[in-house]
Amino acid sequence: MAQIIYGNEIASDIKVELKQRIEVYRQAGKRLPRLVVVLVGNHPASVSYVRGKEKACIATGMENELLRLDETVTQKELLEVVKDLNRNDQVDGILVQLPLPKHIDEQAVLHAIDPDKDVDGFHPYNLGNMMIGANTYLPCTPKGIMELLKRIGLDDLSGKTAVVIGRSNIVGKPIAQLLLQANATVMMTHSKTKNIKEITRQADILIVAIGKARYVQSDWIKKGAVVIDVGVNRDENQRLCGDVDFDSVLSKCGYITPVPKGVGPMTIAMLLSNTFDAYEKHIME
Ligand code: NAP
Repeated sequence: MAQIIYGNEIASDIKVELKQRIEVYRQAGKRLPRLVVVLVGNHPASVSYVRGKEKACIATGMENELLRLDETVTQKELLEVVKDLNRNDQVDGILVQLPLPKHIDEQAVLHAIDPDKDVDGFHPYNLGNMMIGANTYLPCTPKGIMELLKRIGLDDLSGKTAVVIGRSNIVGKPIAQLLLQANATVMMTHSKTKNIKEITRQADILIVAIGKARYVQSDWIKKGAVVIDVGVNRDENQRLCGDVDFDSVLSKCGYITPVPKGVGPMTIAMLLSNTFDAYEKHIME
């Protein structure tokens, strides 16, 4: 039977560590770290994600401000909001919750965020730094996955084969890059990949980020593999589940993350970690 990697427990430990570090600065008379989340519209999943981030900020002693903008906000108005936040030296991190309404160019908004406050790690400047292995804000979900691998003793992936399913800008592409930097031999797959199972069966580490409920079955898995399930889906009974068929894969793999309580809480913990890094940098300036 595989070991289950409970990301929620690791995320809790990280939050406790951050809280202690914030307290040290607070007692030294420094201001608190401040994350501003910009939410456009009322998309139910986005509202729920934003609440989760707010709760996590409060738990660590960070200040969190939610700026709610109407669905009809223009791109120009939204860019002005971002520019104001860039100029505000009391703001350490800026997060614009995605997706944005169709009339707004998402990339233009992400590009407008000061890379120094880009705690989501989506700005091309930070993504470029990640690409060359420079110290930078890493995108939160891939950073969280690397942290999970570290916590099970997989710091150096020399000699390991890693396979990523999914090539999104927020998960698939950056995680492939980070795995490569950790010395894994990396293969990327996506919806146009042929004979995908033949590739995934070679994986010592399999990262799945496709958004299809319980899609990956046990015959996709190499015995003893580490399986990281990024997917967040609702099944036919509206129950939360991942992209991996957890019950069937559990008896075949070595490690697996559950959904919920796996990668999701780590994503939030890494957002806080990036915000703390930005804060430390700002208060030292
Ligand atoms: P996305 O932008 O929705 O793209 C999905 C990717 O999966 C695409 O690259 C697509 O290939 C690929 N794909 C789709 N069907 C496939 C198939 N049958 N076989 C192989 N590849 C397939 O991806 P995302 O934003 O990374 O999200 C993926 C999942 O992760 C979603 O469930 C999302 O909710 C979840 N997520 C969770 C967290 C977290 O913190 N837990 C964070 C981010 C995302 P093509 O490029 O060829 O279309």
